[in-house]
Amino acid sequence: MGRVLVAGAGIVGLSTALSLRRAGFDVAVRERALRIRETGAVIGVWPHTIRELERLGLGERLAEIKAEPGSVRFRDFSGAELATAGMPPARTVHRRRLSALLVSALGEDALRTGKELVEYVEDPDGVTVRYADGDHERADLLVGADGLNSRVRAVLLPGSGSRYQGGHHVWRAVLPFSGEIGDGSPVLGRDRTRGTLVRLADGSCCWVIAQFGTTASTTRSGKEEALARVANLHDGTWPFALRDAVLATPEDSVLHSRVAVVPTISRWAGDRVVLAGDAAHAMSPHIGSGASLGIEDARVLGECLGRAGIAPALAAYQDNRLARYRQVRRHADAMAAAPTPVSYVERFTAYLGWLHDGTG
Ligand SMILES: Cc1cc2nc3c(=O)[nH]c(=O)nc-3n(C[C@H](O)[C@H](O)[C@H](O)COP(=O)(O)OP(=O)(O)OC[C@H]3O[C@@H](n4cnc5c(N)ncnc54)[C@H](O)[C@@H]3O)c2cc1C
Repeated sequence: MGRVLVAGAGIVGLSTALSLRRAGFDVAVRERALRIRETGAVIGVWPHTIRELERLGLGERLAEIKAEPGSVRFRDFSGAELATAGMPPARTVHRRRLSALLVSALGEDALRTGKELVEYVEDPDGVTVRYADGDHERADLLVGADGLNSRVRAVLLPGSGSRYQGGHHVWRAVLPFSGEIGDGSPVLGRDRTRGTLVRLADGSCCWVIAQFGTTASTTRSGKEEALARVANLHDGTWPFALRDAVLATPEDSVLHSRVAVVPTISRWAGDRVVLAGDAAHAMSPHIGSGASLGIEDARVLGECLGRAGIAPALAAYQDNRLARYRQVRRHADAMAAAPTPVSYVERFTAYLGWLHDGTG
């Protein structure tokens, strides 16, 4: 069927490689980093994500990510539970575990690290990709799954660089922590602050603190910034060990991100190149499903290429994705604008319902 190069071995690049291999392509993944290293801590995985991974053929191997689904409950800063009728169950998965599963399903032979794509040139017969080390390769199709600051997107759509989402910051860490942590419910706190503390399958803990409409000090450490927000998430009257967990975290284990997003783009494909995952649509993490949607991109691209030649397949994929993401952005904006924790949960539930069955 032809040869495909996938730039980027994140969750989406690896999923895309599996999907296109199922569609009959000879697929090679090229990753800039010297080793596969999923940054960040955990992701919430919804039944929708599991269904997409099953469709990629992972089936029984999904047991390897070792996460049982649990019902999602939200609390406010006084510990009061917020109604979540209709919210699907979620699994909390260590990113590294999911990434390792995808690499082992693909096979290491299909993957080369230390290969940073710097340029590509399309021609009627295919695409030539050039790497930072001076090497170059030919393929019939290039998939840019190279994330938020995608080089492939920069060449395809000059001027489409990522932008900060004004005043939206996230602090997080994974640490060994033996203290009682509470029930793991995400907290929708005061002053548009959100936080979670969860136990991972390997016994370690992960905390995440995010806030819309804030600034991060240039003089305080990430840990101090996170601690300053704990009061928005916990009034001290109920069992929630977030403060203790943050206090127990070594300074250099705290990851801080100023949330950046990809502006809406009107084109996802050229003649021999196409985008998938964050490279095309990195959105605010408050939708809790960026990876899930990227895995969906991978599946849809494989289906389109399995049915038609490259040009019509890329056109069909682009039409499908543009329509889907118009709706995702509508839901994401509604959630970000939610005036209260209760309305946030309602809007999130509506979004997840739509993600699963297209209604709402
Ligand atoms: C705080 C936070 C919480 C989140 N929570 C969730 C959640 O609960 N559920 C969920 O589904 N999603 C969540 N997301 C979103 C999710 O993390 C992303 O949508 C997803 O990881 C994107 O995967 P990707 O493979 O497209 O990009 P990336 O993970 O960014 O991978 C891109 C890869 O490309 C490589 N690369 C970059 N440039 C080049 C180049 N020039 N040449 C070759 N390789 C290159 C990079 O090294 C990297 O390995 C969250 C995001 C954040 C920031």
